[in-house]
Order: sequence, then C-alpha cells, then structure tokens
Amino acid sequence: MNGLEPLFRPFLVLIGLMVGSFLNVCVYRLPRGKSIVTPPSACPKCKKQIAPWDNIPVLSWVLLGGRCRHCRKRISPRYPAVEILTALLFLLVSLRFPIDWKITFVLYYTCVMLAITLTDYDLQLIPDSLSLPGIPIGFLYHGVLMGEWVDSLLGILAGGGSLYLIAELYFRMRKREGMGGGDVKLAAMMGAFLGWQSVFLVLFLSSLAGGLVGIALILFRKKSGTFAIPFGVFLAPIGFLALLYGETWIAFYLKYVIIQ
Ligand SMILES: [Zn+2]
Repeated sequence: MNGLEPLFRPFLVLIGLMVGSFLNVCVYRLPRGKSIVTPPSACPKCKKQIAPWDNIPVLSWVLLGGRCRHCRKRISPRYPAVEILTALLFLLVSLRFPIDWKITFVLYYTCVMLAITLTDYDLQLIPDSLSLPGIPIGFLYHGVLMGEWVDSLLGILAGGGSLYLIAELYFRMRKREGMGGGDVKLAAMMGAFLGWQSVFLVLFLSSLAGGLVGIALILFRKKSGTFAIPFGVFLAPIGFLALLYGETWIAFYLKYVIIQ
C-alpha cells in the first residue's frame, strides 16, 4: 500500500469533510437522545428540510453566505469549522499511521474524541453512546490487532479505575459530584486504545491543563472556586494526541526525565 499512499491521502481528507458533517449531527443529537439517522437535517428556525445540494460540507455554507436558503437565518460557522477540522485530523492521522484497513480504528477514535470535546463543551455531557462502544473497540484494536491485550486491559483499569476513585473520593469529601461518570467511561475507552502508560500520562497532562485553565479563570474572571470546567474538554484532545504521539512522549520521558 505504501506506493499508493499519495493517492489515498486526498481521498481520506475528502472523507474527513463528510464525516465532519456527520459529526455535527451527532454532537447536536446524541446528547439530546435523538436519532442520528432520522429525520434529515432541517433549519432550526424555519424547519425546512436541508436539500442534499445545500448540505455539501463547507462549500454549501460558503455559497449560501452562511445563511439558510429559505429564511436567511445565520448558520453557525462552527459547522464548516468542524468539517475542516475533521479533514485536518484525518490528514494528520494519515501522516502518522500506515494507510491500510486498520487506520479506520484510529479514525474512529479521532472522531469520538472530537465529538466528546464538543458535547462536553456545549452541555457538560459525554454521551455513553460515544464512550462505551469505544472500550471493546479499543481492546479489539490495541489488544487484539496490536497484540497488546494485557496493556489494553490494564489501560481500561488504569484509566477508568483512577478517575472512578478520584470521583468517589471527591464525592465523599465534598458531598457533591465533582466529576461525572462520563469522564470515567471516556478514560476507560482511552485506556483500551492507549494502554496503561499513555493513559496515565493523559490523565496527568489533562489535570495539569485543567488546573492551569481553572486558575486562569479564577484570576481573570474572579469566579468562585466551585464552578465546573468540563474535564472531557481537556481529556479528549490530549487523549487524541496521545494515540499519535504517546509513545514518543513516553520515550522522551524515560530518556530525559527518569534516567539522569
Ligand atoms: Zn431556515
């Protein structure tokens, strides 16, 4: 397949645009318990169904000037932005992994991480339908196909288990929920795909990033110490990067931090 990669890569980027369009639908409908198949997309204001030629990723939005064809209501630029971002992420994945059938697992993981980032940002919610199937699918990829089944199982335990413990401790101490079960299931999924070392690194880096943003918000917005920043907004993007670069991070850590 190596010789064909330059041919398949642009194709994968086009697929990315279309998948991004589908992700926009998932991000809106899944947390609201709606079907992602029916009904077809419609304008939220005039309720008119969006014709297939008005639903071409990015292009339709540009041609229609970012407005509904019928009622001229503005359509958020986030829709084409998510489509372009998905295409770019597909490109990034195709540069890091050999382009063969196994890359579909990595692309699936990429899509779920992006969708979770958005639903958690919008509604502080990580739908089970996004995270839970990722646990067995991640085991199939990292555990069975890559032959790292012990690492994958330990990853599920390390990711899900440690966040579960933190959530439980916080609840006992503060008598209210600090971390949702959604984060626990997301971390278990990431552990299945990444293995135990990378998932620990992801938890550590996400806590660091979350902590820094939290401090910045307190300093600049003078909010109280008990507002919620959805943790998945940090976990999912860092978890995505870890599948691409986690081994490099760990090698770097072992080389320059531990062995001195
Ligand atoms: Zn409309």
